[in-house]
Amino acid sequence: MAGCGCMSLGIPHASGQTLDIWPDEAGINVCAKGPAVLRRQGVRNIAEPHEKAQMLLQLMCELSGIQPRIQLFAADFIGDYSRFAAYATIKERKRYIVYDRASFNWKPDQTTWAEIGILGHEIGHHVASHVYADEVSRHAQELEADRFSGFIMSKMGASLSQAQTMDAGNAGATDTHPSSASSRKAIEEGWQKARTALNLNGDKKVCEESWSSSSMLIHGSECRIATTCENDGMQQRLACQDFDGSWRWR
Ligand SMILES: [Zn+2]
Repeated sequence: MAGCGCMSLGIPHASGQTLDIWPDEAGINVCAKGPAVLRRQGVRNIAEPHEKAQMLLQLMCELSGIQPRIQLFAADFIGDYSRFAAYATIKERKRYIVYDRASFNWKPDQTTWAEIGILGHEIGHHVASHVYADEVSRHAQELEADRFSGFIMSKMGASLSQAQTMDAGNAGATDTHPSSASSRKAIEEGWQKARTALNLNGDKKVCEESWSSSSMLIHGSECRIATTCENDGMQQRLACQDFDGSWRWR
């Protein structure tokens, strides 16, 4: 147990030591969207993430042009969180994102843009170096992470209203987080930037089916992310190779 003054139950590390990935006092606060009462009480039962979450992390890193060096974990958050609580932190010079197992389900047909958006928001904290730099106010950091999230969801094919579902409520500003309305505006700014960059504001929006990631090992299988064109636009799906070499959707 590391001496950070807060409850912190880790997972066994490869070296046999316990890995403490609860942010220390200088680290970033837990992010949660919705009318949450946040208490920094810690997490428990830290374990491997859902494979869908791992796939989405990989995809968003690739779409951002960064190497996916962020390690993702699921945990049970202790305290009163409304929904979609997660945090980004750096411990022993490694980057982590930890999400609350109770508020994300990652089921194939039920993964919502809200879940994807919060994951994107946490990646945004890493990309913008908020975890160890303190150049701007806490609210400015949150809005920057929201803009990044809007940007990346736009690249993944989300409509503006889908992207904004990650902060759909009417929560006012708190000490750490801006109001829901401010967050939605930041999401829109990021979403619009990606649209402009991709020139998707014209009359024609073309969806092309393609592989959208390099291969990665998930639970021992070779997997890749594919962009497919179905229903109401682009979808990101995970395909993994069977032992006979054929590809199957997961
Ligand atoms: Zn945040």
